[in-house]
Amino acid sequence: MVGGGPAGAVAAATLGGLGLRAVVLEAATKPRWKPGEALAPECNPILDRVGLSALLASRPDIARRSAGIRSAWGSGEIAYRDGFREPFGAGWIIDRSQFERLLSARAVEAGAEWFWGARLHAIERYGDSWRLDTSGLATHRFDARIVIDATGRPAGVARRLGARRIQYQSQIAKVVGWTARPIEAAWISVESDPDGWWYSASAPNGSQLLAQFRESTAAQAGALKPRIDLYDAIAATRLMRSVVALPPREALTHQAVASAGSAALDHAAGEGWLAIGDAAAAFDPISSQGLSNAIASAEAAAHAARSWIEGSGDALDAYAARMTATYDAYRRALRAHYQTETRWRDRPFWRRRHDWPACR
Ligand SMILES: Cc1cc2nc3c(=O)[nH]c(=O)nc-3n(C[C@H](O)[C@H](O)[C@H](O)COP(=O)(O)OP(=O)(O)OC[C@H]3O[C@@H](n4cnc5c(N)ncnc54)[C@H](O)[C@@H]3O)c2cc1C
Repeated sequence: MVGGGPAGAVAAATLGGLGLRAVVLEAATKPRWKPGEALAPECNPILDRVGLSALLASRPDIARRSAGIRSAWGSGEIAYRDGFREPFGAGWIIDRSQFERLLSARAVEAGAEWFWGARLHAIERYGDSWRLDTSGLATHRFDARIVIDATGRPAGVARRLGARRIQYQSQIAKVVGWTARPIEAAWISVESDPDGWWYSASAPNGSQLLAQFRESTAAQAGALKPRIDLYDAIAATRLMRSVVALPPREALTHQAVASAGSAALDHAAGEGWLAIGDAAAAFDPISSQGLSNAIASAEAAAHAARSWIEGSGDALDAYAARMTATYDAYRRALRAHYQTETRWRDRPFWRRRHDWPACR
């Protein structure tokens, strides 16, 4: 397993449960801050299936039920979607780095060997196996029957092995984080504006996140340190400015510009390898589908890997076809969702989304 984010950790734990030995190579030296703290209600069935619901319920310091989504989208009115009325029950808001720590511990309990500070440096095929070399804190050589790419958006293994990553939509997120007193009602807030949209959430430990989403231009993508200044911009919003209390600049604990568009591999599996999570298909955060796809694809890939090792020659192709179907359904829903906002059809961000051709 290359990559120890949510996808890599769930795949390693599932493989352990299936009696297979997994080795996880994670480039970071410990779980680090990442945006992505909302587990949507639609995640609940997959969280139940992989045994995570009970674990989250037992850790109120890491996860708590979301009150729901309040949004100003499609009109100036603020709409409330109460989490407890959702067909799958309320979603969760998590402390992301503690969540990843929990997933990693669970993978190790299931028998995985976990290497922090191990960045994939080289991979080569020999016979019907792979040889992997790592650099970083942990320099090792590993041999494996099957390799799973869980490296997130870079898709670092699949691309080395010749897969192409196809961009459907480009978008960047300017994200700031800080810590405040935890609040009782954990609402997720979403708001559209003439040039994109906004998102805010508050995790159980009081860590707060505010993100502004914009079309990504070549200049922004190339800039090493684009200016993240949300103070003036938030003043022009309707919902965000009333629910988010930005701290003084010096109290911000995180500032990042993240790629937040949609992209997928042209094929999510090949001879002896599979890609899972964002490496296989990365979703626009407006869909809240990133973590559920990470977990669901990890579970499916672990089962496909076992079938393939046991001799089922088409197991990996079947997995790749499933990923394609998921991504196509997502793109149809994404297009429909953006097209519900009609107030700024003449502005570049919205015009582009209204002009997207229909997907298969
Ligand atoms: C601004 C923003 C907000 C988001 N909000 C949400 C949300 O609210 N809800 C939601 O469901 N999703 C959200 N997402 C998406 C979600 O965070 C991702 O879908 C999720 O992180 C995917 O998990 P993953 O394990 O596939 O990848 P990652 O979490 O990216 O993990 C990949 C891991 O691989 C490691 N790695 C990379 N290269 C190598 C290498 N060469 N060798 C070894 N290790 C390597 C990395 O260090 C990393 O830990 C958001 C995304 C963004 C950008």
